[in-house]
Amino acid sequence: MNAGLKKTSVLLGIMALVAAAGFFITWIVGQRNGSFAREGQEKSFRVVTSFYPMYIAAMNIIGDADGVELSNLTENQGGCLHDYQLTAADMKKLEGADVLIINGGGMETFLEQIQKAYPGLAIVNASAGLEKEGENPHYWMDPKKYKKQLAAMEAGLSSLDRAHKDGYEENRRVYEAQVDKVEKEMLSVIEGIPGEKAVLFHDAFYYLAQCLGIEIAYSIELEDDTSLNTGEIAEIVDQAKAGGVRLLFTEKQFSESIPLGISRETGADICVVDTLVSGAMEKDAYIKGMEKNIEEICRCLKALKEQA
Ligand SMILES: [Zn+2]
Repeated sequence: MNAGLKKTSVLLGIMALVAAAGFFITWIVGQRNGSFAREGQEKSFRVVTSFYPMYIAAMNIIGDADGVELSNLTENQGGCLHDYQLTAADMKKLEGADVLIINGGGMETFLEQIQKAYPGLAIVNASAGLEKEGENPHYWMDPKKYKKQLAAMEAGLSSLDRAHKDGYEENRRVYEAQVDKVEKEMLSVIEGIPGEKAVLFHDAFYYLAQCLGIEIAYSIELEDDTSLNTGEIAEIVDQAKAGGVRLLFTEKQFSESIPLGISRETGADICVVDTLVSGAMEKDAYIKGMEKNIEEICRCLKALKEQA
């Protein structure tokens, strides 16, 4: 073999290797996108929800629909979504998804980023009909508004996956009846209770307080207990004292050190409520969480009644 021929065969060998590697990479990408794996199989309908409250709602509407896969985009991170930064792993979960269900109302600040990366992805906004009602996106905390979110979710899913339309409708009805029960329980709480004033430590409690006829004297968007300085705490104490506030609504997920300090200064009772932004990935998580909230609010109101 002369030197020129040797060089040519080495070059051909390298080219063959490059071509094989290229094919292999294409095959892996294909596998990941499901284009090979799904051949000859029935394609599944992949639903992704933006965060926990939407995931629990979607779980109830989808039920055991055949071939429908549900996953949640963001980790059960303990707090609300506000200003949440998507991770690379979060973004990857949207690969091959058919629809993303969002809470809406500005809760998903990362929506534009998703739409840029996945321009073909269908978006169902659960709050489409509610956004005009105000700036506060914590709609799920009001059973009445939550039911509107369920209806929007059902309509969105049904329009994209017509095969399961009847099932989605039936599941939504069954779940709505459970939410109705929670709503009635909430209404019975306020019967015979004179109006109270409260400081809210997360404006997620706004709708809950509104449902219960509790006047909001001051509302803080507190995401962790280090976000208030001493001046701000003093201002809350002053406002609470001046407004005759006897209730502090604090969040289960956050530390109690600041509310405890304010409670000591003002004599107001602490009512620890769950905003239902994290918890068990179970169908009845919202219903159970709301029932616990009602129990806690009843306990607080009863204590206030005894004080008076
Ligand atoms: Zn929030």
